Amino acid sequence: MLNKAIPEEQLRSLKLLVLDSDGVSVPRGTEITEQESETLYEAHIKTFRITDEFAKLLNQLKKKILVCISSGRNLVYLQSMYEKILGGGTILQAENGNLSLIDGTIAQHFFYDEKYFQTLSAMKQDILKLPIKGIEPKQFILSCHASSELKEVYEIVKLRDKNNELKVLWNGEAFDIQKKEVSKGAGLERLMEHLNITREQTIAMGDRVNDKELLKTAGIGVSADKEALPAEYWTEGEGMPGEILARYLWDHLFSTKIL
Ligand SMILES: [Mg+2]
Repeated sequence: MLNKAIPEEQLRSLKLLVLDSDGVSVPRGTEITEQESETLYEAHIKTFRITDEFAKLLNQLKKKILVCISSGRNLVYLQSMYEKILGGGTILQAENGNLSLIDGTIAQHFFYDEKYFQTLSAMKQDILKLPIKGIEPKQFILSCHASSELKEVYEIVKLRDKNNELKVLWNGEAFDIQKKEVSKGAGLERLMEHLNITREQTIAMGDRVNDKELLKTAGIGVSADKEALPAEYWTEGEGMPGEILARYLWDHLFSTKIL
């Protein structure tokens, strides 16, 4: 259920549904263990995948609108997590808007130079000395999983970020250290431009602070957690919030009343 109905004329113009991944499309609770030594790199990651039922619903919905999963995760994991919905109108937007997989082609939305990666690498060495769970392998973001918000992470970034071009986002599970200009919202803007879709034709759903810009960029913003991420619309009831919204769109977009 939604807290209130989305006006029909807005629903009718929709061309793109954007869903956050963790907490919206799959349950939260990624487990990461990582170890580095002089000669070895070892990583173990456990994460949820989209259910068959939800995948079926999204695949049906794609007859009407494009579906984009926008996540902080690395594209490699998204491809595994969302394998059941790949192709035919699914877009995977990875690493908080950095990359999009569109029709089998990868678009990189922001520019990086070597210095950026050197800074991140130096920060990583400092952060590994803290009591964190592990670093999630990513291409453009330094993502550190921790049981609680460690103030030392902010201090390390402040010290190493000489040009003041980075920001730190804590989402309750992990710190994302990334360029200030990068956000899911900025990534969505570039994607909409690429697809020639306007904000009025876009509906987006998120559940945490890293989805704030995403909801602002889309014409219709829906929250999966109205306390953590206030929005005009939010979902209520049992089940994955993304599935509740997709079901709502299915019921309304495919009802004879609108068609
Ligand atoms: Mg989330």
